[in-house]
Amino acid sequence: MPAKVLYEEKILEYELGKTLYERYKNMNIEMIPIEKHHDVEFIKKAPDEKFVEFKKYLVLGIRKSLQLTPNKLSADFIVPFTSSGCSAMCTYCYLVCNFFKGSYLRIFVNREAMINSVKRKIKQVGERKIYEIGSTSDMVLENTITGNLRWAIEEFGKLDNATCTFATKFAMVDYLLDADHNGNTQMRISVNPDYIIRKVEIGTSKLEDRIDAANKMFNAGYRVGVNIAPIILLDNWQEMYRELLESLSKKLDDKLKDQLFFELIFMTYGYANDTINSAALKGVLNVFDRSKMCPKGRGKFCYDLDIREDAARYFKDLIAHYFPNATISYIV
Ligand code: SF4
Repeated sequence: MPAKVLYEEKILEYELGKTLYERYKNMNIEMIPIEKHHDVEFIKKAPDEKFVEFKKYLVLGIRKSLQLTPNKLSADFIVPFTSSGCSAMCTYCYLVCNFFKGSYLRIFVNREAMINSVKRKIKQVGERKIYEIGSTSDMVLENTITGNLRWAIEEFGKLDNATCTFATKFAMVDYLLDADHNGNTQMRISVNPDYIIRKVEIGTSKLEDRIDAANKMFNAGYRVGVNIAPIILLDNWQEMYRELLESLSKKLDDKLKDQLFFELIFMTYGYANDTINSAALKGVLNVFDRSKMCPKGRGKFCYDLDIREDAARYFKDLIAHYFPNATISYIV
């Protein structure tokens, strides 16, 4: 339930926009008209301490940029899709580096325009490609508000030559289980050791619930992968991640384990995360260890190359031990 809803007036020209507007208005939630979803003056001027309060806001707008971008990791193309931002507060969140205090959940109601961009790209490329729809938000979370993930899965189900993919840290997948996906959707369940989820991935689903969600989706016919992301090298990281892999190997469905694919993503951390965490999330576990990290682009840090390479070897061995039939799609 959002604390306030900020909306662009134009959303009322769209069916989904009208539905969401009416829903929250009828619940007596404060509705604040705004000019542009990405440029809200009172939020920009507010102190960083307000980050937690703003995370409870929901912003409704129209997505203007619909250009797909090529990708070489989880997909062939990134689709600018129906949401950006998120109501959870993972302390390393990449969205904070882009949107700072404005990394609350924004929903874009012009979804037909987005799927039409995908259809144009399919025509252009003429062969099966993978389309990432969750690169700027968590679609499973968004789906609890809009039903957009189920809608997208069914739209992709009607298309030839297209696989839709998304990663999630949430477990609310029941509404997706009987969707008509036609084998055209894959989900990557994003996991971390239980300790990291509890201390760092604030507001996301528990590890055991994520594992259940992966099993449910697999048994509903979806292709399912595991995304270990972000890998955070705390002092006892080897043991924490070994326990994680062991727990996954015990709890994931046997048939799923046989066709599982992994993605391994090391943490990137930004000055923006540091600023927001020290102002608004005082006392949270500090995941930034400057002694192990080096600059990566403007205001961001990644683990030193030799540390990353050692850790990658450790993960490859762990995966080979617990999941002999699984593949690793990429490590970054
Ligand atoms: S769930 Fe994903 S998008 Fe949401 S705060 Fe965590 S890292 Fe950011």
